[in-house]
Amino acid sequence: AQPLLRVDGLTKHFPVRGGLFGARKTVRAVDDVSFAIGKGETVGIVGESGCGKSTTARLLMHLMERDAGEIIFDGRQVGHEMSLRELRRGMQMVFQDSYASLNPRLTIEESIAFGPKVHGMADGASRELARELLGKVGLRPEIFANRYPHEISGGQRQRVNIARALALSPRLVILDEAVSALDKSVEAQVLNLLMDLKREFGLTYLFISHDLNVINYISDRVLVMYLGEVVELGPVEQVWAKPAHPYTRALLAAMPSSDPDKRTEVPPLSGDPPNPIDPPSGCRFHTRCPFAEAPCSNVAPRLTELDTMGHQAACHMAIAGSGHSQAPAV
Ligand code: SF4
Ligand code: MG
Repeated sequence: AQPLLRVDGLTKHFPVRGGLFGARKTVRAVDDVSFAIGKGETVGIVGESGCGKSTTARLLMHLMERDAGEIIFDGRQVGHEMSLRELRRGMQMVFQDSYASLNPRLTIEESIAFGPKVHGMADGASRELARELLGKVGLRPEIFANRYPHEISGGQRQRVNIARALALSPRLVILDEAVSALDKSVEAQVLNLLMDLKREFGLTYLFISHDLNVINYISDRVLVMYLGEVVELGPVEQVWAKPAHPYTRALLAAMPSSDPDKRTEVPPLSGDPPNPIDPPSGCRFHTRCPFAEAPCSNVAPRLTELDTMGHQAACHMAIAGSGHSQAPAV
């Protein structure tokens, strides 16, 4: 079946000046990222901050121009065969900061009704829709409709943001650290709400988080990013049970809830935290990788299938170990 979203070679570099003499440098925020999301799927993107997760989301939403790459949404090329106006209806986003998308001067009902009105819905109908959606996200309209964003809690505001995102009947919702600012108990409630809404409205999610527990809970497939690149991707159970990339293994081993036996097996992340400005040559992880060998610092490993389940990794060692050979670079 045709995927709902296909991303091919997505790239965004930012020129910056850095260092003592203000030398020209490049932040490789997103570098040749490709993946697809099937209808009804939840795909998680995980990685440390600065790995390119949020930039990927912003590029998909056209909140930022891409340097290169294609975005095919519902079989049509975004920006060519699909207008941005159409894209906005089909793809919506919820951000970490629950205040970010809400106008403080509008009531909650007005905020949710705003999008549909811009897209031509009559005032009365859009307000009715807003009230209905408030109910769907677990906020009784008679209590919440006329309140202002600052009069409700962070968890309630995030429910409002979800309702606002759903108001245009999108097919894909991008959630960028959407539960990260919430208390653990509220986070669990909002995650469960998202799963219920997904079923009810037939949604597809791209779920971005630095929290592996959350990704594991909500995702069907996961994409692990490091310094602007996808280093591993596959079904979430597969990646959790048999992480192939040393970076993924280190992330999993560092999880507080992880099996203590596993934790001692894998050395923790060493070396400098990632800096996407002028990233290391070859495998970008080689400066922190306990398994790095000679070719790692020169030859960039390409994302390669490790099995027939769609599990892929970009690591020389993992590729050699899987018995699958990497096609020679063109
Ligand atoms: Fe480590 Fe080399 Fe694999 Fe990179 S390619 S993750 S440096 S073993
Ligand atoms: Mg981010």
